[in-house]
Amino acid sequence: MLTKTTLITLPDLPYQLDALEPVISSETLELHHGRHHKTYVENSNRLIEGTDLEGQELLSVIEKSAGDPAQSVLFNNAAQVFNHTFYFKSMKPGGGGEPTGEIADRLAEEFGSYEEFAEAFISAATTQFGSGWVWLVLHGEKLEILKTSNADTPIIHGNRPLLTVDVWEHAYYLDYQNRRPEYLKLWVEKLIDWDFVNSNLG
Ligand code: MN
Repeated sequence: MLTKTTLITLPDLPYQLDALEPVISSETLELHHGRHHKTYVENSNRLIEGTDLEGQELLSVIEKSAGDPAQSVLFNNAAQVFNHTFYFKSMKPGGGGEPTGEIADRLAEEFGSYEEFAEAFISAATTQFGSGWVWLVLHGEKLEILKTSNADTPIIHGNRPLLTVDVWEHAYYLDYQNRRPEYLKLWVEKLIDWDFVNSNLG
């Protein structure tokens, strides 16, 4: 039994299951949130139950299990909880396209234009080999596009995440089969929640 002190929980999606259609189907979103994300939460809680990590916050569990080979299964599950929560918040119905707010100026300054950023982000996400994530992060004061493999997450490498896209096959295969570039192009054009990105600039 999980105790009341357990802090690792499955956040509700910030929109309805069909809200991201036609870019992401409700079937994909239901599997992704209701099965994959939920399983990472359940596994994390099972693995910390009865250990000194039980009751600690998710970020603390991730930091303390990172880099420890004996804790790699816990790290993978806990980091995937964080990564998925961040991914679902990175999208909104009717999002995508030209950014607004501070991030619009920052992308223009540091990448040349929004279009050049979008091309670089899609290219990084297309070429991430196998399962993983592509992020826009703040590395110090500088914006960077970063790839991570499997469950790896920028928060253990001193980067502040601003935006992420999931390129594990479970994120797109039902809707796009092997056409990852098509998923990414539509994801960038139609789904990015720039308000969330701006809120992460802090
Ligand atoms: Mn996923």
